[in-house]
Amino acid sequence: DVLTDQIAAGEVIERPASVVKELVENAIDAHSLEIDITLEEAGLQKIEVRDDGDGISTDEVLTAFKRHATSKITDRKDLFRVKSLGFRGEALPSIASVSNVTMVTSTGKTGAAVTIKGGELVTQKPAEARRGTTVTVADLFYNVPARLKYLKSPNTELSKIVDIVNRLAFGHPEISIALTHNGRELLRTAGRGDQLQVIGSVYGMAATGQMAPIKASDADFKISGYVSLPALTRASRSYISVLLNGRYVRNFAITKAVIAGYGSKLMVGRYPLAVINIEMDPLLVDVNVHPTKQEVRLSKEEALSHLVRTAVAAALGDRNL
Ligand code: ADP
Ligand code: MG
Repeated sequence: DVLTDQIAAGEVIERPASVVKELVENAIDAHSLEIDITLEEAGLQKIEVRDDGDGISTDEVLTAFKRHATSKITDRKDLFRVKSLGFRGEALPSIASVSNVTMVTSTGKTGAAVTIKGGELVTQKPAEARRGTTVTVADLFYNVPARLKYLKSPNTELSKIVDIVNRLAFGHPEISIALTHNGRELLRTAGRGDQLQVIGSVYGMAATGQMAPIKASDADFKISGYVSLPALTRASRSYISVLLNGRYVRNFAITKAVIAGYGSKLMVGRYPLAVINIEMDPLLVDVNVHPTKQEVRLSKEEALSHLVRTAVAAALGDRNL
């Protein structure tokens, strides 16, 4: 029921950025090639995610808004084993319980449009049959004043959205992802499968000439990606992105290992830009992870850290610095 959904929303949907993350992940799971994200007022007034993916068949649209109706896995350790990003089947019902949602979706045959207000179905009617899905989330948290109060300034909320979209884009260079806020385009990736090109879209094309590719592997891990030359740094380590089997994660040890790879090449208080891809057996991910918090613990973390550090050092050394 709506109340259960609202309680779950408290866990899954913390802020506008959580909505964007869940909707874009759904679009990715639906094999989209193009994803358009449009925001008004840092997402508080409107978040719209339009994709050209599989769509939902007309008779299943309402099921998508039912809690756990679509749950694919039951155990957290399956998180990194399944290919799809979604697995709990609670994002849509949670979002719908704390906002006004419209979904227009089609598999290419018939189309359906549903409007859901505070978790209750308002209208369902036929719609155009353009293959894909558009989800519009308006008036987020209008019925949960405590949530609204807890939010930071619009600028901070917007930067959290940008941050999430950037990292989803790094993990999916094969998808063209665009982000527009109050009519201004903030990001557009080419969707040509080139991760360096995505880095250019995110950090500016000039940055791509200052990124060194990294590559390393051992029996357990395969590492690839890009790290900035010591001349290109930022005042925060949040420009270091780690993708585990394509999924963005937060892990202090790996971040530290990236920085350690620079040795004494970084000035105090300066941090590199980096996108680090790690392919590994999902069983090496600690099961004690929170599904939305993105923090992971790994067994063999020390071996991985060593591999990352030496890969970064080698990439920088190769450039004779
Ligand atoms: P989950 O992603 O965990 O399965 P969600 O609540 O996020 O749960 O979505 C419920 C279901 O609705 C998905 O499993 C999927 O079948 C369908 N769905 C949601 N968004 C889309 C979309 N953009 N394109 C196609 N199907 C979608
Ligand atoms: Mg989902």
